[in-house]
Amino acid sequence: MPDAAVAARSSETTNSGATQQVDVAVVGAGFAGLYLLHKLRKAGFSAVVLEDAGDVGGTWYWNRYPGARCDIQTMDYSYTFDPELDREWTWSEKYATQPEILRYFGFVADRYDLRRDIRFNTRVKAAKWDDTSDRWQIVTDNGADVSCRYYIMATGCLSTPKPPEIDGVKDFKGEIYFTGRWPHDGVNLAGKRVAVIGTGSSGIQSIPLIAEQAAHLTVFQRTASFALPAHNGPAPDDRKTYFEADRAAYREQARWSLAGVPYPQEMAVSWQLSDAERRERFEKAWAAGDLVHILTQLWADQAADFDSNALIGKLIHEKIRAVVKDPETAAALSPQDHPFGSKRPCLDTNYYATYNRPNVTLVNLRQEPIKAITASGIVTDKRSVDLDVIVFATGFDAMTGAIMAVHPITGRAGKSLSSVWAQGPQTYLGLTVAGFPNLFMITGPGSPSVLSNMAVSIEQHVDWVVDRLAALRDAGFTTMEATETAQAGWARHMADCSMLTLHRLANTWYTGANVPGKVQTLMPYNSGVGPYRGICNEVVSRGMLGFKLTGPDVAEQCNDGEVVRLQPDVRLVLGMLAEMNLPQIESLGAQGARDFLTEFNKGRPAGRPVGEVGSGALQGAEGPLPYRLYRPATPGPHPIVVYFHGGGWVLGDELSDDPFCRDLCRRSGMIVVSVGYRHAPEHRFPAAAEDGYAATRWIAEHAAELGGRPGPVLVAGWSAGANIATVTCQLARDRGGPQIAGQLLVCPVTDCRFDRPSYADNAVGYFLTRALMFWFWDIYCSPADRTDPRASPLRGNLAGLPPAFVATCEFDPLRDEGIEYAEALAAAGVPVEQLQARGHIHSSLVMVDVVITGVGGRAKMAEALRGFAGLPRKLEESADISPISVNAAAG
Ligand SMILES: Cc1cc2nc3c(=O)[nH]c(=O)nc-3n(C[C@H](O)[C@H](O)[C@H](O)COP(=O)(O)OP(=O)(O)OC[C@H]3O[C@@H](n4cnc5c(N)ncnc54)[C@H](O)[C@@H]3O)c2cc1C
Repeated sequence: MPDAAVAARSSETTNSGATQQVDVAVVGAGFAGLYLLHKLRKAGFSAVVLEDAGDVGGTWYWNRYPGARCDIQTMDYSYTFDPELDREWTWSEKYATQPEILRYFGFVADRYDLRRDIRFNTRVKAAKWDDTSDRWQIVTDNGADVSCRYYIMATGCLSTPKPPEIDGVKDFKGEIYFTGRWPHDGVNLAGKRVAVIGTGSSGIQSIPLIAEQAAHLTVFQRTASFALPAHNGPAPDDRKTYFEADRAAYREQARWSLAGVPYPQEMAVSWQLSDAERRERFEKAWAAGDLVHILTQLWADQAADFDSNALIGKLIHEKIRAVVKDPETAAALSPQDHPFGSKRPCLDTNYYATYNRPNVTLVNLRQEPIKAITASGIVTDKRSVDLDVIVFATGFDAMTGAIMAVHPITGRAGKSLSSVWAQGPQTYLGLTVAGFPNLFMITGPGSPSVLSNMAVSIEQHVDWVVDRLAALRDAGFTTMEATETAQAGWARHMADCSMLTLHRLANTWYTGANVPGKVQTLMPYNSGVGPYRGICNEVVSRGMLGFKLTGPDVAEQCNDGEVVRLQPDVRLVLGMLAEMNLPQIESLGAQGARDFLTEFNKGRPAGRPVGEVGSGALQGAEGPLPYRLYRPATPGPHPIVVYFHGGGWVLGDELSDDPFCRDLCRRSGMIVVSVGYRHAPEHRFPAAAEDGYAATRWIAEHAAELGGRPGPVLVAGWSAGANIATVTCQLARDRGGPQIAGQLLVCPVTDCRFDRPSYADNAVGYFLTRALMFWFWDIYCSPADRTDPRASPLRGNLAGLPPAFVATCEFDPLRDEGIEYAEALAAAGVPVEQLQARGHIHSSLVMVDVVITGVGGRAKMAEALRGFAGLPRKLEESADISPISVNAAAG
């Protein structure tokens, strides 16, 4: 529709001069704003949309540069709220062009008659909350201001182009264009000397087409991006067949997926695959031309583990070298400074091949920074390039730019959003901000937004917000405001999540690093659209947790609290376990429980390789016991850690904590000998304790035979195994050896009392239950024996024990007795280091390669063991416990 016609229509909906009164003001008429308007109307709200542009489309209205396309397959990048709409529109290509996407938005606007409530060419300049009327006052630059109960910013994550940071732009006498503000009637570049500054997605899409037109194209690159061929054409058959088979199921799967496109969770980790298998997967992904495929389907640890991710980088570098003929240019185009996926990879058509054209030059700004733009072109440290046209493909002030451009946004007590966000964006769920009642942001910072198929994220936000507004209205509430507690909790959760992936390691627009002076923090929520949706739903099901609701005729409601207190991956694991509807272990009987555990363990990732794994028999208290030995790949002899597995003295064996033993061995660089001690009910107390002691003595005596370092050994254990480890220390002290240099106790059982708060707080829901602990104790030890220090070491003499590292987990029934034991050791003069792992459960720290946020804790444990053994610190030396892992806080 021509702009003039739009303006004529929009004037019908405004009261020029007077303030326009509506229930809801929406800013932005892009993907989000259009759906909002439709949904608000359906819910019975009066609404106006204020839009700077001359028509609908948002991103697709502004970004008209050559080659502009979506990079999520258009089949997925569509509205799904109305199945009829979904059927009425068919995309012509796998990745539609900007004109086709813009036509789609026009079609949607017409279909639902949306334009009559949109005021185009109207920029929102400021917004102010009025405490007396409980309404927002919105100031516009065109026509009436707006008074509304609810103010929804659908202003877009990538809608504020970043201004150039180069001196002299104004002096340039030629033409200047921004990809994000491309002229509607196109640009004739034929025969011209053109520069493109920037090689992000817009640059990579436009460069091949600009090169075809221009006399000469000079590309100025600061940061090389990873790009893969889009292989555009018709939608691929496999995806289309999947989609057509059951559209509703396909869409629903997308809503609960990681990135908003239905792909399964990849399970195989990189080191389980051979080089050939990895290459095969990579080639398949390269041929698929699908960002979500290559970002999620190569191997399970690709986004989390630095080394596994580096394998992908190398394979892509190979691809670049195979296409780009000049080795220096190929090297410059090969990203070296960020892990694959930590910056949005791009989809391209002939991008790398374009650099083989004689009329294209790449200037690597890392080697020759731009000094200035002059009247005639661009001057770098090494050359001067004469130009007719400069194209800035320099990206956006992402996620917060458009929100902060409305200035001021004044909330309660005259506070402006810019002051509240001075240290980075603070939100609850990426949707709301404490102190700013009835303000909502669609795909705001703190929500999955740009790390997802935005179509899915936008629909989820719109549905959530409008459904809440309708529920509020029906209950008589007129305001809804996030609490400070909820917001602080979300910030903590965001920080926890940021440790899961490698995004935080790259300077990108995801972190705000592309805008000088912007506070750097990972802005999008990186734990997936499905988990995020689950959290938003949980806020509602828990009585609008973290929100204060008020209304003139109803009592205030404030159900304060944090929605996620678990570590994000622990939450996922518990969710998966809940879905599996597992039996209560204590209901299975001892043998049934053992069989169940064996089966259950088959589903977990295999532990990582170590130098050598062996097994044998050692002498226990009353006969031989099996053991498993893990030897590091480094030359020995190594100190020996005697390890006792968990399982409540009833379950498990020398193999059952295999991944954890491997991890300890790799990180500490020591031999780990896992002991198959005897179990109850066949062998009740004190069999396990006595076996622990006997095994430790035997291992110490046979250290050299085992290839270990003679002298003191170390002991370690998890849960009941930690109980055996520390009991062994007490017995070794009292029985004249062996010498033990240190003890690592992970979530130890230390006492037979069940009345500590952690037993009540964490009785159910966190894997180890109170009922299961009762059962373990009953099977292992009669009540009369339980106060014996060999069962309850907290009751023993703690003086003179070896130094200890005690790890406890917040959501564990055993938490308090572990902490109490650490404190009692310290009081008895034993050097103790404690790790109180926030947001973790009893099994978190031993779930290697499943609970990634446990990595930091595991690294600290290994570090402690090395300290006990008198070995130098090692963390910085090892690739797999590089700062990424070390920082993955468990404390
Ligand atoms: C080139 C490009 C390609 C992309 N491809 C994909 C893709 O393939 N898949 C994907 O998921 N995402 C993609 N994105 C991200 C894209 O931005 C979103 O998918 C989606 O279009 C965002 O919709 P939105 O309505 O939230 O915001 P936008 O489309 O950005 O719309 C926001 C609107 O708000 C208006 N506005 C902002 N501030 C004000 C104000 N103060 N007053 C009045 N109006 C205002 C703007 O003019 C704009 O029209 C792409 C982005 C770009 C730039």
